[in-house]
Amino acid sequence: MLTTPEVIDTIAGLRARLAETGERAGERPRVVLVPTMGALHAGHLALVRRARQLGDIVVVSIFVNPLQFGAGEDLASYPRTLGEDVAALGAVGVDLVFAPTGQVMYPHGPSATRVTAGPVGTLYEGAARPGHFDGMLTVVCKLINIVGPDVVVFGEKDAQQVFLVEAMLEDLDFRPVIEVVPIVREQGGLALSSRNRNLAEEQRAAARALSAGLAAAASVADRGTAAALQAAHALIDAQPLVKLDYLVVVDPQTFLPVAADHHGPARMLVAALVGSTRLIDNAALDLN
Ligand code: AMP
Repeated sequence: MLTTPEVIDTIAGLRARLAETGERAGERPRVVLVPTMGALHAGHLALVRRARQLGDIVVVSIFVNPLQFGAGEDLASYPRTLGEDVAALGAVGVDLVFAPTGQVMYPHGPSATRVTAGPVGTLYEGAARPGHFDGMLTVVCKLINIVGPDVVVFGEKDAQQVFLVEAMLEDLDFRPVIEVVPIVREQGGLALSSRNRNLAEEQRAAARALSAGLAAAASVADRGTAAALQAAHALIDAQPLVKLDYLVVVDPQTFLPVAADHHGPARMLVAALVGSTRLIDNAALDLN
């Protein structure tokens, strides 16, 4: 298990070796960071493959960050499969897996210093999970400072997270650029998630209503926001096992709900509980 200084040293060593040898000697090697919470699936591996295309040194972090879990959430039961994760990453080919303990990341206990996500951080996922995005941004900030990447890779699956990380990188003058990878789905549409393994077969079948609802909304988006929402509700509300938390159409520029007469690009966000498993998904809409 590497400590923070060991990670910094290892990456510096990898950078130095690459800069001295090989066909790109003399060039500054590019480091790409893929932050994850582990329990890796094909969605995560798509991010890692993209990272491989973008840089010379790929670092994957695996850390179930206590700061972004509220009281009563699934921190303790969140799936942890480190051995399998390392094997899967080895098969794709990464240069470093950084899987710190809580003690390594927060040696003095949860840090008093936090990054604040601002108003958008209190909406949607942030309304259901107060403090979640402050905790997420704080650990992303720490990981960037430890790893020193040129690029950080995130999945579109967590669209609000992407919006807030982009805002943090710009607002706080971070160096890395963000790369966003499209959502990877199962056959049948369900977005891959580490939490899907908690679903019984009947729940998994019901959960497909979320992606089906988004697809239905996208297909009628040329008729406007109300029609898109109605199309999604029709499928999602028909599933008794799916307890809808929110279904909203947001403006990609502001991440605020769109006005009823909004035209142009938008994003529909959905969150629901299926049993005790919280699922989220989203899709781009072209509102006409
Ligand atoms: P997590 O381990 O859930 O924190 O996710 C780590 C990264 O993988 C985040 O950037 C997620 O958005 C991304 N991710 C998770 N599921 C998917 C998926 N189905 N498709 C694409 N990216 C994903």
